[in-house]
Amino acid sequence: MDLFDLTGKVAIVTGAARGIGQGIAVELARAGADVVVSDVIPEEGTINKIEKLKRKAIYVKADISSKMEVENLIKETIKQFKKIDILVNNAGIFIAGNVSDLPEEKWEKTMDINLKGPFLCSQAALKYMKKGASIINISSVAGIEGSAGGAAYCASKGGIRLFTKALAAEVGPLGIRVNSIHPGLIDTPMTAAFTKDKKVLEGMMSKFLLKRVGKPVDIAGPAVFLASDASAYMTGSEIVVDGGWIAAL
Ligand code: NAD
Repeated sequence: MDLFDLTGKVAIVTGAARGIGQGIAVELARAGADVVVSDVIPEEGTINKIEKLKRKAIYVKADISSKMEVENLIKETIKQFKKIDILVNNAGIFIAGNVSDLPEEKWEKTMDINLKGPFLCSQAALKYMKKGASIINISSVAGIEGSAGGAAYCASKGGIRLFTKALAAEVGPLGIRVNSIHPGLIDTPMTAAFTKDKKVLEGMMSKFLLKRVGKPVDIAGPAVFLASDASAYMTGSEIVVDGGWIAAL
């Protein structure tokens, strides 16, 4: 038996139009899963990449901060695939700003998407999840370490880290697992401001033990692991995937 095999599984990945979410969606499909690609923006090639792997994929537009749109996402998933085995709460935003002058709306928007979104998606998906199902929350190293200018983002990502553990405690007796992944700096549209500025990038990279920026596929591997039976005895746990950034600060 291949412990990593996801054949016959149905996965939902939020924020899967591009970036880390696209990387995760494609690798779940490569491992055998059919995938619901969800986002607020049109998908940027995710469906085509999955179909090339001979897996099924559908795109469902949903803003994860809206209960109504999340319920529609789950309804469409069930209509098409009849079940949900894997939920990857990946969609998120990064808004920088110091507490001293961060507008309240920016704080609320960050919490609505990064923290309430995974709550709404988990709540709606759990109605259809059975023993063996897996929820994966994409937090961040910013959910473990603080940084100046990162108050809202760090609070939301720290929140999702403990949401993971609390939900794991709630659904563990049902045989449903919940874990979090904590990426470091991954090259995606979200981090363009850091990765395109050579000086900023060099300063950050000097702290990475592996001396390179991560790629979406670097997060997808651990996601496949957490979705599969290879991690069958892991729940309420966290995996840091940061090239060794916070190991030796
Ligand atoms: P990205 O901006 O490339 O992708 C995020 C996706 O989420 C986008 O497609 C966006 O449209 C979608 N999204 C935003 N708001 C949404 C909403 N309300 N409803 C549904 N979808 C929405 O960023 P990424 O780097 O791929 O980030 C993916 C996740 O990884 C995020 O949760 C992010 O916080 C986390 N993360 C990223 C890094 C990094 O270095 N890139 C590091 C740590 C954590």
